[in-house]
Amino acid sequence: MNKVLYPGSFDPITKGHMNIVDIASSMFDEVVVAVLINPSKKTHFFTEEERVELIKELYKDNSKVKVITSTKSSVDVALENNCSAMIRGIRGVTDLDYEISLAQVNKDISDNKVNTICLFADSKYQFLSSSLVKEVFKLDKDIRKYVDDKVYVAMKKKVLK
Ligand code: ADP
Repeated sequence: MNKVLYPGSFDPITKGHMNIVDIASSMFDEVVVAVLINPSKKTHFFTEEERVELIKELYKDNSKVKVITSTKSSVDVALENNCSAMIRGIRGVTDLDYEISLAQVNKDISDNKVNTICLFADSKYQFLSSSLVKEVFKLDKDIRKYVDDKVYVAMKKKVLK
């Protein structure tokens, strides 16, 4: 079985991430979406467990998508889950520099075992990021263009808690 890992923070998962998952699941037998901790992101909106629950709910009818969380590195998670590669999404040149160095480091620390495949979301998602969604949400503006309704409802619930 050809499995691929899609690691990220997904705080929250956006329609851009979901577009990448769709593209990846048309190419691989299984897409393992891994909610990992990005040490450069100090604060979060949803806990890792909440993000996993939400993503599981979104893909409950798609048997090709598995959702996990881990405190380990993406390389270790890929090897543990027998994933032949990792997917990263590219929005534009600003993502490229970072993603190239990340891909090289991951290849290096895995002794060339884990390669990275870059996919491009549809152009309408080119400017979409989780941070942008959170900013627009904080301004009390409609984010339903950017995230699934289930994500919107979960965000509303979370701030009312
Ligand atoms: P990380 O904290 O690892 O950057 P993110 O959740 O921000 O995690 O993103 C996970 C991956 O999805 C990254 O490769 C990121 O570039 C990609 N991605 C995020 N938003 C989009 C988008 N709108 N279009 C394409 N790729 C995206």
